[in-house]
Amino acid sequence: MKKVAVVTGASRGIGQAIAIHLSRLGLNLALNFYGKDEDILETVVAVKEHGSEYLVFNNDISIFENAESMIKETKKHFGQIDVLVNNAGITRDNLLMRMSEEEFDSVVAVNLKGAFNCLKHVSRIMLKQRSGAIVNIASVVGITGNAGQANYSASKAGLIGLTKSAAKELASRGVRVNAIAPGFIETAMTEVLSETVKEGMLSNIPLKRYGKPEDIAKAVGFLVTEESSYITGQVLVVDGGMVM
Ligand code: NAP
Repeated sequence: MKKVAVVTGASRGIGQAIAIHLSRLGLNLALNFYGKDEDILETVVAVKEHGSEYLVFNNDISIFENAESMIKETKKHFGQIDVLVNNAGITRDNLLMRMSEEEFDSVVAVNLKGAFNCLKHVSRIMLKQRSGAIVNIASVVGITGNAGQANYSASKAGLIGLTKSAAKELASRGVRVNAIAPGFIETAMTEVLSETVKEGMLSNIPLKRYGKPEDIAKAVGFLVTEESSYITGQVLVVDGGMVM
């Protein structure tokens, strides 16, 4: 029987690469995103090519009921959920003095509450199964902080706290929870940054290249398979050595 993974924010960037990599590893998939229906097609074509069965959920993961129905329907369809990757995330950058309440709340709602929503509903299923692996996609700025990203950094630091607490609560039933903290990864999220910012970043990356979504996907692959069966509650930094 194929294992089953839920991946949020799977329509592009890192989430798309994660979904495709997990299908390559032989998992069936529930794909969440929040956009135009056609946005998920590229991911769907790729996972089909690898022989995965899939479900698609186009809805806002920051809404508690959306996560609840996605997890319920996935369990009903596949009979099990073995992997959850909380990847959906947004930025609304601004200096603290100028940051609006909406900019703060919306980022925390998607990046942190969205992960809680899925984690809460999936944990019940995984506890009963006595197995499961959860990976939360945080960020290096959740560790270091970043000027202009108080909302985003706080949401990612919160996600790291959520990861460690969940790891402690779920470990005795064989459910592992880890986080990945990516550095600078080439996606739509970082495309909008100015050349000056990008060059500044590059000069601080010892491996002298930006990360690719696949670099994160491979780390997720490691954290959800038996290869990492003795690892839980950890934050794996995948950043070319930028933060050490
Ligand atoms: P991206 O290209 O902007 O993709 C974000 C994904 O999240 C999209 O699939 C988007 O769906 C989905 N999404 C956004 N809001 C959502 C919501 N409310 N409900 C459900 N899905 C939603 O971003 P990315 O660069 O791949 O980033 C993926 C994750 O890695 C994020 O958590 C981000 O914070 C983290 N990260 C990225 C970097 C980086 O350098 N890129 C670094 C550190 C951490 P639609 O396209 O349909 O809106």
